[in-house]
Amino acid sequence: STQAETLEFQAEAQQLLQLMVHSIYSNKDVFLRELIANASDALDKLRLEAFRDKDLEVDTSDLHIAIEVDREQRTLTVRDNGIGMSRDDVVSLIGTIAKSGTGELLRKLKEASDAAANELIGQFGVGFYSTFMVADEVTLVTRRAGESTATRWSSTGQGTYTIETVEEAPQGTSVTLRLKPEDAEDHLHDYTDEWRIRHIVQRYSDFITWPIRMEVETRDGDGGTKREIQTINSMKALWARGKDEVGEDEYREFYKHLSHDWRDPLETVHVKAEGTFEYQALLFLPSHAPADLFARERTRGVHLYVKRVFIMDDCEALLPDYLRFVRGVVDAQDLSLNVSREILQQDRHISLMRRRLTKKVLSAVKDMRANDADRYRTFWTEFGQAVKEGLLSDPENRDALLDIASFASTHDPEQLTTLREYVERMKDGQNHIYYLTGASRQVVESSPHMEAFRAKGYEVLVLTDPIDEMWVDAVPEFDGKPLKSIARGEVDLDAEEGAEEAEGERDEQREEFAALLEWMTGELGEQVRQVRLSSRLTTSPACLVGEAGDLTPTMEKVYRAMGH
Ligand code: ADP
Ligand code: MG
Repeated sequence: STQAETLEFQAEAQQLLQLMVHSIYSNKDVFLRELIANASDALDKLRLEAFRDKDLEVDTSDLHIAIEVDREQRTLTVRDNGIGMSRDDVVSLIGTIAKSGTGELLRKLKEASDAAANELIGQFGVGFYSTFMVADEVTLVTRRAGESTATRWSSTGQGTYTIETVEEAPQGTSVTLRLKPEDAEDHLHDYTDEWRIRHIVQRYSDFITWPIRMEVETRDGDGGTKREIQTINSMKALWARGKDEVGEDEYREFYKHLSHDWRDPLETVHVKAEGTFEYQALLFLPSHAPADLFARERTRGVHLYVKRVFIMDDCEALLPDYLRFVRGVVDAQDLSLNVSREILQQDRHISLMRRRLTKKVLSAVKDMRANDADRYRTFWTEFGQAVKEGLLSDPENRDALLDIASFASTHDPEQLTTLREYVERMKDGQNHIYYLTGASRQVVESSPHMEAFRAKGYEVLVLTDPIDEMWVDAVPEFDGKPLKSIARGEVDLDAEEGAEEAEGERDEQREEFAALLEWMTGELGEQVRQVRLSSRLTTSPACLVGEAGDLTPTMEKVYRAMGH
């Protein structure tokens, strides 16, 4: 082997490692899940690459994960014959944290209590570094499929690691942990105990679709014991099983495996479609929005499998963009393993599947709203802003979306309201659903446009998300009641009340103020289209209104910023 080089971890990686070394994270068992998850990903990648690249000379006939324990040396090894890593891969993937949000995470951790820190780390996904919770030295040997030399990496988690090129190593990756001596006497953390390992694998990794093998002690025929290699996970793809065969905790663990989220999902949607185009889907609504929900380079969370074979993650063809926070797996029976993103976008079966899955998700939210107000509120607070994009982009599901949407309103500052509830509260003779958009609740509430509405007791929806400006123009009505901005065009509250006598009064006022209006029209000239008397103000002397169909001030800003 070549001479070993000692390199420093990237600064952020060092900080995260320190947290692991001092195991501020309470559940140490998860290190095994993280190693198995990485091994499973590596096997998925190899199978796919071997399939796509016929020139890649690899043996894919016995892909598996092996766990080996040495009680004397107190080491634990997790080995896979998956894709492996090149030397550069090791430096960039293990020596640094490429994940976005690391800096922010570390900043937050500085101020967090222990419980909150636990939560934050779990959310972030501790990955490979979690091994340093239980090991005082970690050694990784890896050879990438198709390459002839291998890499050996080793670290005690104290700021540096050593790396060297080695000639001989099986393809794939092995990670060996030298377990901390202080855990030796503590049976809950004795990771050399095969029952302990079995238990952890069954708890967290049972559904991994690759065999996880370990040598265990079993009975032989003569009442004695012998040692033999066994597969210790059931390998059953959860999504392929019937709903009543899967326990809540299995769903939860699977979700955590898939999403790298520490918290339980808010809702699970399990779909099995039979018939000409057969597929299974297991979808989850998380309980928290991801940090990149509104980032340009956002990830989507649905993985595509074909007949149990992992094909791709982040599959955008399976659900509309406004449901990009949904995590899960879709397994289709009748697609080619060679299927590409482009083909998926055009496939008729996929588009039917996408429609069905969209409806399933929306109806799950609807059920949640009907049966569990707290969970629904969490959902809407976290994801409502994204879901509302669907009001613009998905006319087919507009009614379903309007049904599950809720909005702030002047009715009760503490509560969101659905449109249905708004309509039920509408005053006699009120024909419109009123709303006002603006940058914040305070801006909207203090708008002069509000005055008359408040004075006359009309409820107004308070729409403060940027997307609100856009969908309101796409949605003409709800339940036969047109949506109407109180800042645009003529809003005639007296007519709304059907008061005829008001009409005579207004004629008088028009005469009285004719000269003033004429003068103002002259003074303001080109800057305004018209100066008119208004019934919408009570205390403010004047306000600016847009024409019906005009851009709102916020949208004007948006378009100007985009260079229009
Ligand atoms: P994550 O899995 O969330 O990306 P990890 O810290 O668990 O983060 O792993 C970092 C990266 O190291 C992985 O994304 C993968 O590219 C690489 N890696 C880790 N373990 C293996 C392995 N057994 N085989 C191949 N690559 C691996
Ligand atoms: Mg990982």
